[in-house]
Amino acid sequence: MRKKIVAGNWKMNQTPQEAKALCNLLKDKVNTTEVDVVFCVPFVDLYPVLEALQGTNIAVGAENMHFAESGAYTGEISGAMLKEMGVQYVILGHSERREYFGETNESVNQKTKKALEYGLIPIVCCGETLAQREANITIEWVRMQIKCALAGIDAEDAKKIVIAYEPIWAIGTGKTATSAQAQEVCAAIRQVLTEMYGQAVAEQMRIQYGGSVNAKNAAELFAMADIDGGLVGGASLKEEFADIVQYK
Ligand code: PEP
Repeated sequence: MRKKIVAGNWKMNQTPQEAKALCNLLKDKVNTTEVDVVFCVPFVDLYPVLEALQGTNIAVGAENMHFAESGAYTGEISGAMLKEMGVQYVILGHSERREYFGETNESVNQKTKKALEYGLIPIVCCGETLAQREANITIEWVRMQIKCALAGIDAEDAKKIVIAYEPIWAIGTGKTATSAQAQEVCAAIRQVLTEMYGQAVAEQMRIQYGGSVNAKNAAELFAMADIDGGLVGGASLKEEFADIVQYK
C-alpha cells in the first residue's frame, strides 16, 4: 500500500515573514503521519520554514536545484546546499520552469540524478499542454518525459522518486482534470515505470496529480487507483490546504 503524499508548491510567493506566518497557520492542522506532507518553498524561505516546522512531521522541499556539484553558476543552488539545510524534497521539471526558464528533459534528468546522489527526494513533474491533449498525444508525450527524466537511474533509486502528473492546462487555471482523465494518465505513467523497472518497483512508486487541486476535488482524485496524492499550488497558500491533507 503506497502512502499518499500531498505537497504544497508555494511558487514565488511568501516573504520569509509571511512564510513563518503561513507555517504557523497550517502546521497543527496538517501535522499527520497518515499522509506525507511537504511544503515546497522559495529558497529564501527554507530556513524560516525549517525552523517553524521543527518538531512536526511536515517535510520541507525546494522548488528547483542545479545539476552541478558547485561552481560558476551565478544565482543557482546546489543539492549539497539543500541537503545540509535539512531539506528532504525538491521539485524538478515543473512546467513553469520548462516554459520560462529553459528547463529541458535533459536538465531534468541531470538534476534528478544529482538530487538522488544527495539523498534528496525528487518530485519529477510531467504533463501535456492543451494543444497536445487535443491532438491526442498526451500519453505518448508523458511517457517520453518520464523516460527522459529517469534515463540512467536504476530501480533502487527510482523507487525513491515521486512523479507529479500536472496537465499544464489545469495549472493555476481552476480547470481540474476529471478524476478519470487524471487516472488514465497516472496509470499510463505506472505502465511506463513497469516497462522500465518491473511491476514490483512501479507499484511502490508514488504518482501525484497536480492542477487546481482543492478541498472539493481532492478526495475524488486521491481515491483513484494510480493517484497517490497531489502537488498543490494555489490552495497550498491557504487554510484550504489543511482540508486537502485531510481529504478523506
Ligand atoms: C502547481 O503549481 O504545481 C499547481 C498544480 O498549481 P495549482 O494547484 O495552482 O493549479
